[in-house]
Amino acid sequence: MNNKKDTKKNCPSANWRIKAGFTLIELMIVVTVIGILSAIAIPKFINMTRKSTEAATKGNLATLRSAISIYYSENEGTYPANTESAKAMEPTALYTANITYLQNTLIPKYVNRWPVCHVPPHHNKTDTVDEYSTFAQLDVTCDGEWAYIGNGDDTKFGHIFVECWHKDINDSYISGW
Ligand SMILES: [Zn+2]
Repeated sequence: MNNKKDTKKNCPSANWRIKAGFTLIELMIVVTVIGILSAIAIPKFINMTRKSTEAATKGNLATLRSAISIYYSENEGTYPANTESAKAMEPTALYTANITYLQNTLIPKYVNRWPVCHVPPHHNKTDTVDEYSTFAQLDVTCDGEWAYIGNGDDTKFGHIFVECWHKDINDSYISGW
């Protein structure tokens, strides 16, 4: 062990210095490992972003539903009804009005500010609410916006949901949230 040759042979740092760098194989292994890690991590990150955005939209939907419930309990068992306004606004203004009847009714007493609806990657972020008189009035439009049924005669009266027939990250229909 005391002889110089043995020390060199047994000490890895001495070997390291002699090699002075990585071999091509070592570099290729490192590059491959980084490639594999990023192939796993990047899609996972994208999924996480989508998952958290969906969760935020679900939370916003819950906020709107509880606001509508509080309105219901404070107004002798009726939901915000848009029948008159819907009639006045139909057909095209229904989709273009900046402030809808529902927003007018709920802000600021029941919600401070109108929450955002975002279901990536299908649709862009929006705070628009499409007000429908009846559930049957709904068409196949998939626009990722809030939709509200405001006719007191409809079985879905008071129902708010996301107008999107795409599926979420868990393979459930977004309209069914
Ligand atoms: Zn959609």
